[in-house]
Amino acid sequence: MPAIPQSMEKGGYCVPFADRTLKCADCGTSFVFSMSEQEFFASKGYQNEPKRCPSCRDTRRQTRGEAPARQMYDAVCAECGVQTKVPFRPSGTRPVYCSNCFSEQRAGALR
Ligand SMILES: [Zn+2]
Ligand SMILES: [Zn+2]
Repeated sequence: MPAIPQSMEKGGYCVPFADRTLKCADCGTSFVFSMSEQEFFASKGYQNEPKRCPSCRDTRRQTRGEAPARQMYDAVCAECGVQTKVPFRPSGTRPVYCSNCFSEQRAGALR
C-alpha cells in the first residue's frame, strides 16, 4: 500500500499537486504554476487557473494602484465659497464650482 502524504489526507480529497506550465493570456509567455501556488489557490477556493504570468499580474496590479477610479481634490467654489471636492486637480487658472453652482453655470450657458 503506497504511503499517502499528510497534506493530501487533510482535506479529505486527494489532488496530486505538481508544477504545471501555463500560457499567459496577455503576453503568451509560458510560466510555471507551481505546486505551492496551486495549493494556495486551492486553499482560497479558487477553481480557475491563473490566466496571466506573474509579471503581467504585477503590471495589472500596479496599473490599478496608480490610477484609482475616483481621485478627489479639495477645492473652494468660486461662486459661493463652499468647500467642495472635484474629480480633477484644480489648476488655479479656471474657477472651480461646487456641484450646485456647476449645474447652475451649465443651465445658464444653455440659455
Ligand atoms: Zn504575461
Ligand atoms: Zn458653489
